[in-house]
Amino acid sequence: MDIRITKTTAPKAKPADESKLGFGKITTDHMFLMNYDEGQGWHDARIVPYGPIELDPTAMCLHYGQADFEGMKAYRTAEGKIQLFRPMENMKRLNLSNDRLCIPAIDEEFGVKAVKTLVEVDADWVPHNVGTSLYIRPFIFAVDPLLGVHPAKHLIFCIVCSPVGAYYASGLAPVKIYVEPKYVRAVTGGTGFTKAAANYAISLKAQEVASKQGYEQVLWLDGVHRKYIDEVGAMNVFFVVDGEVITPSLDRGSILGGITRKSCIEVLRDKGYKVTERDISIDELEEAFDEGKFDEAFGTGTAAVISPIGELKYGDKVMPLTGGKIGPVSQMLYDTLTGIQWGKLEDKFNWIEPVSDQYRI
Ligand SMILES: *Cc1c(COP(=O)(O)O)cnc(C)c1O
Repeated sequence: MDIRITKTTAPKAKPADESKLGFGKITTDHMFLMNYDEGQGWHDARIVPYGPIELDPTAMCLHYGQADFEGMKAYRTAEGKIQLFRPMENMKRLNLSNDRLCIPAIDEEFGVKAVKTLVEVDADWVPHNVGTSLYIRPFIFAVDPLLGVHPAKHLIFCIVCSPVGAYYASGLAPVKIYVEPKYVRAVTGGTGFTKAAANYAISLKAQEVASKQGYEQVLWLDGVHRKYIDEVGAMNVFFVVDGEVITPSLDRGSILGGITRKSCIEVLRDKGYKVTERDISIDELEEAFDEGKFDEAFGTGTAAVISPIGELKYGDKVMPLTGGKIGPVSQMLYDTLTGIQWGKLEDKFNWIEPVSDQYRI
């Protein structure tokens, strides 16, 4: 399938000060669109000037949340080249989400091509400052104008891009985490392993409770026993206990399989660390903390790459970690992954996918 390109005649001004970009506040000049209609499949792939999308008020996504998304980035290297990090993994995961939500699958190779072409068209929007990047948001939503609950027959696949700032303005900073005792994010058999839009709506309440108490993120316990650790906010989580690097196993189906998580496991194994994917309970962590064996904890995700955890609060128990500093495993993973992403380190795992500039305005 070809991608029809209609360039904007009114390009927006690029951000003057890249140190003030923040996250997701501005969008680029173009967006990718493709429609699904029963009988036709996915069709009419196009890149058009960025702008509002008209929906019928009964559009299914607005009522029943049949919608999912992905999150990835384009990075500008010191030489000015633009590159993506494991984009095929995002498209595979989008189809995993699609399957769970009865959304028709996309062609994964074509999805990567769509991302690359859009980034090429908006290449000048990929920011230059150290640590900045172009955040890419592919998403799919059901638009059938019908109030009945059923799998949609008409959907839109859209990709938008947003130049984003360095996540850490002044180096890696540890975050304080609130272990959520009441609300759950996901349960076995549910949608926790997908990037279903609804997963994020139901996580807001706990985030609000945590924020009010001065904590930045929520640590989610499993929805059945309220005991095993799932994730931290919208990041996967790792613990270093007595020399072993542990991350919750994906087997329960309540955890999103992060591409950063997967990459961290590969880097750790390559460097000879002992990494275990298994269930780990909050009680085990408390015990390790009391015995002085809880060395480090960190979250992983595309936005922050590595988010070191400086403190965990579970009920009345406050567990400060690494004395406000960055643990050695967190630092090593951050340096390695960002080094590969921004082209400062050799891409020994073959994770980088270059973007050319043939469609640049
Ligand atoms: C997107 C996401 C992650 C991180 O995935 P990456 O592919 O590493 O960005 C982790 N947990 C949740 C709930 C997510 O939505």
